[in-house]
Amino acid sequence: MFKQDILERELNNLGIDDKDVFLKLIRFRALILEWNEKINLTTITDEEEMYIKHFIDSYLILENNFIFKNKKVLDLGTGAGFPGIPLSILLKDTEFCLLDAVNKKINFLEIVIKDLNLKNVNLIHGRAEDYAKQDDFRQKFDFVISRAVADLPVLLEYSLPFVKIGGYLIAYKGKNYTSEIDRSANALDLLGGEIKNTFHYNLPLIFDDRYFIIIEKVKDTPFRYPRKAGKATTNPL
Ligand code: SAH
Repeated sequence: MFKQDILERELNNLGIDDKDVFLKLIRFRALILEWNEKINLTTITDEEEMYIKHFIDSYLILENNFIFKNKKVLDLGTGAGFPGIPLSILLKDTEFCLLDAVNKKINFLEIVIKDLNLKNVNLIHGRAEDYAKQDDFRQKFDFVISRAVADLPVLLEYSLPFVKIGGYLIAYKGKNYTSEIDRSANALDLLGGEIKNTFHYNLPLIFDDRYFIIIEKVKDTPFRYPRKAGKATTNPL
């Protein structure tokens, strides 16, 4: 079996049967490999591993049955574009904002969205703590999604200020998620979040455990949060 057939099969298993999506993912991989020589984008370069750990993993969020159509989604700490690029390729009626503090990654993503002709993506270079204070961003998103960015108490301070009341933070997490939740009570209380649910999935073929933590924004976040850049990590709530 060709490696590309594995991608196609696993997309089909998630109910994704769209040649345009498949071809854009293949092209995205080529761009990553090309630019990975110059800037540090990912350590995962093996073809099958990239399909599963980056692409299929990005799409696992869809198994949670949230409706993203016509919604505003922020991918906080998108890095080389995960999960934001695979999702924006598929969900053409969803408005995506991809934010990262590293300009080289944003410049790479600029090339990607032009090459793939993605019309539903805005790229933002900067720190979450700074953008979260701006009127155009504060409490303006239906969803914040984030993979491999920070320990949950820290991620909550970065992300909940962006979420509208009634909206959600969906965090992609590994198997230590319970201990992260245990340490998050204070941050949730101060920032106006409530844990609604957690979901467990196995990544196909490699059987890695993947967990989603779903946090609803139930109250306004006081304006003093997030604290100034760096504070959330050095002194978590
Ligand atoms: N989500 C991607 C990248 C994870 S690496 C993936 O799963 O592959 C974490 C990324 O978060 C890095 O690119 C880093 O620059 C970004 N990041 C970490 N803290 C940030 C902050 N406070 N504001 C904006 N970006 C941040």
